[in-house]
Amino acid sequence: MDCYRFSYSIYHRPFRRSLFTSHGEWKIRSGIIVRLTDERGRAKQGEIAPIPWFGSESLASAIEWCQQIGDTITTRQIYDIPDNLPACQFGCGSALTAFTSTPNPPTQTELAMSALLPAGATAIECLPALVSQGYTTFKWKIGVLPIAQELAIWARLMAALLPGAKLRLDANGGLNYALAEQWLAAIAGSAQIEFIEQPLAPNLLAETIELARKYTVPIALDESVATFDRLQATYTSGWRGIYVIKPGIAGFPWQLAEFINRYQLDVVFSSVLETNVGKTAAMQLASKLNLTRSMGFGVDDWFE
Ligand code: MG
Repeated sequence: MDCYRFSYSIYHRPFRRSLFTSHGEWKIRSGIIVRLTDERGRAKQGEIAPIPWFGSESLASAIEWCQQIGDTITTRQIYDIPDNLPACQFGCGSALTAFTSTPNPPTQTELAMSALLPAGATAIECLPALVSQGYTTFKWKIGVLPIAQELAIWARLMAALLPGAKLRLDANGGLNYALAEQWLAAIAGSAQIEFIEQPLAPNLLAETIELARKYTVPIALDESVATFDRLQATYTSGWRGIYVIKPGIAGFPWQLAEFINRYQLDVVFSSVLETNVGKTAAMQLASKLNLTRSMGFGVDDWFE
């Protein structure tokens, strides 16, 4: 059985400005970089970047898991990481995979990226800089301000978009059914809306399926499919829309790839605000799948 030297370090990375979502304010991204070294002295890194309010383990649970491992880890121990530690599964799983995968992952320019705009009217101010960096797909958080205000900002944002640019609206599950209908009706005629993401709370899947039947705007699910268990359950419950998947908290990378391929899911890969270590692992995984939608990793501007 393969055995590796195991070490880890915890990082804290402050955001340039706080990230506001319908879950509240987020100021510092903390996570863990794990390092596996084989008997020949080759070392590979992986990143554990939990988002507990999104259904992953907490940072504390991930640290606790790393602490009990000690100085060495076997392949078996990695495969045995329990399903309630999906960020640990991804971090150690991708470090393990890195020993066998191609050394040069696709760069950001090869895979189209979607840039994350700040919530509220600040989005309009930030748009020109992102356009000049080459982005053509943008994500804007909704469900943060009262809907009348957001619809007014949305109209200004649409006017500021270049022809051919695409906008994704992400509600983070923060709308109720009536507000979701208001949004879907308002954006129905706009070809520049790629999709609306997670309009309703994850427990309202039947209602979301109903909205998808009633309106023409494509709907994507994110929080509903945050962990591998939830992804499987949502597919089984009949969701055939778009899946926003954060590989960083979606468990073992090989297990995720197999599921996406088997059911030919319409997938958007999305960031967990990880460092380049986790991002490179996600890009590696993406390069093995036929993903056609821009990936939600355009988040560099959020860090110093
Ligand atoms: Mg989302």
